[in-house]
Amino acid sequence: MTTFAHKTPPTPKRDFTNTAISPVQNHRDWRCKHCRKMLGVCRDGRMHLRFGGGHDYLVSLPVRTICPDCKTLNQKSAV
Ligand SMILES: [Zn+2]
Repeated sequence: MTTFAHKTPPTPKRDFTNTAISPVQNHRDWRCKHCRKMLGVCRDGRMHLRFGGGHDYLVSLPVRTICPDCKTLNQKSAV
């Protein structure tokens, strides 16, 4: 009696479409070049700007902004 039983180990399904928990490599702080104030967070080629008062902006690179503290013009070019 010969039976060919193909036993394959169960492979865990991974859903890569859900990037809510993304690796840290695509997550970079953008700080003022003069006073190091936090200006935004770079995520997946886009800049997430967050200001006081509940204002949130998701902008594409390149982006420029003026530091709210020292008024220095900061520029971030696309990688
Ligand atoms: Zn500054």
